[in-house]
Amino acid sequence: MPTPPRLEILSITRHFDGRDVVAGVSLTVAPGQVTCLLGPSGCGKSTTLRIVAGVDRQTTGRILVDGRVVADETRHMPPERRGIGLMFQDFALFPHLSVGENVAFGLHGGLRANRARVVELLARVDLGSFVEAYPHQLSGGEQQRVALVRALAPRPSIMLMDEPFSGLDNRLRDDIRDRTLSLLKEENTAVLLVTHEPDEAMRMADEIALMRAGRIVQQGAPYSIYNNPVDRAAAGFFSDINIVKGFSRGALTDTPFGRFLTPGHPDGAAVEIVIRPQHLRIDFDRQGRGPLATPSDGVAARGIVERARFMGRESLIEFRMEHDGTILKATVPAVFLPKRGTALWLTLRRDRCHVFPAGCQG
Ligand code: ADP
Ligand code: MG
Repeated sequence: MPTPPRLEILSITRHFDGRDVVAGVSLTVAPGQVTCLLGPSGCGKSTTLRIVAGVDRQTTGRILVDGRVVADETRHMPPERRGIGLMFQDFALFPHLSVGENVAFGLHGGLRANRARVVELLARVDLGSFVEAYPHQLSGGEQQRVALVRALAPRPSIMLMDEPFSGLDNRLRDDIRDRTLSLLKEENTAVLLVTHEPDEAMRMADEIALMRAGRIVQQGAPYSIYNNPVDRAAAGFFSDINIVKGFSRGALTDTPFGRFLTPGHPDGAAVEIVIRPQHLRIDFDRQGRGPLATPSDGVAARGIVERARFMGRESLIEFRMEHDGTILKATVPAVFLPKRGTALWLTLRRDRCHVFPAGCQG
C-alpha cells in the first residue's frame, strides 16, 4: 500500500446564504510540503482552512489525515483531536505568561516537564535566551516567532496558517517567512498556508493552488503557475500584464508584432495575447532599420515613450503604441530612462506570450 497523503481534502463545498463559498475544493499535502491557497479576498480560503481545522463544517466532501477520515457527511472529529496546529494573523500570546510558558501551553506537564523542547524550539528562532521574558518585552516579529514555536511545540503533523505574516512590516516579513519555512521543513510538517499575496506564495510554496470564487482554478509549482497561467486573470494575479488584441483566422492571428499561432480559436474569434512587462523587449539593434521580422521574436512594432520611471532594481517604461494608441509596459533591468516622446521598436518574447479568448477573464 502506498503511504496516504498527510492531508487529503476531497471535494469540499460550503454553503452559506444560498451560495457555495467553497465549491468543490480538492487538495493533498505531503509531510514536509508547503501548499499555498492563494486568491483574492473573499474567494473562500479561510473557510476552507476552518473546515480542515474542524472549527467549521463542510456542506459536502471529506477530509482525511494520514488516510483516516476526520470529517465527512456523518463524522466530525473535534479540532483538538486532528493533530493540527493553527497560526493566524492575530496570534495573541498570553500576556500574563512568560515566553516559555506560552510555548509550553499546549504540552502535557507545562514548562517544567518540557523545558528542553521549549528551549530548543526557541533557540531555533534565535529566542533561546527569552524563555523567562514576557510578551510585551518582545518586538512584533519576535512575538510572531514565539507564536510559531508555540503552534509547533505539540508536534502537529499538519500546520494551517491563515495570512500569518500580514500584521508584520515589510522589512521583518521576509526574514520571518524564511525562518518559519526552515523550521517547518525541519519538523517535516505538512503545511497549508493561506495568503492573498502572490509574492508570499511564490516565496513559501512548493505548490500553489490558485483559488477564485470558491474554486481552485489552477494548481502547480510556483514556476509553472507563473509561466503557464490558465487564463488572463491567473496571469494578472502575479504581475502587471500587457494585452495585444487580434482576431483568429485559420488558427493564426495577425498583430502588429507579427503572426501568432492560435489553434483552437474559431475563425473570427477575438483573442488576447498576454505578456508580462519583463518579456517585452526593446529592440535596440533594430532602431532605424524598420520592422524586420526575426524568427524568434516576430515583427517589431513602434512605441512612443509616454513615461519612464526608475523602480530600484529595474526601470518601468510605458509606451503608447503607434498602431493603435494602446499603452504597453516594459520593464528593463537597472537604469534606462528614455525621454518622453522617444520612438523605440518593441518585440514580444514569443515563448512568454499566452493566447486566451478575449473577454474570458475567469
Ligand atoms: P477569504 O479567506 O478567501 O478572504 P472567506 O473564506 O473568509 O474568504 O470568505 C468567503 C466568503 O464566504 C465571503 O464572501 C464571506 O462573506 C463568506 N462567509 C464566510 N464565513 C461566513 C459565515 N459564517 N456566514 C456567511 N458567509 C460567510
Ligand atoms: Mg481569509
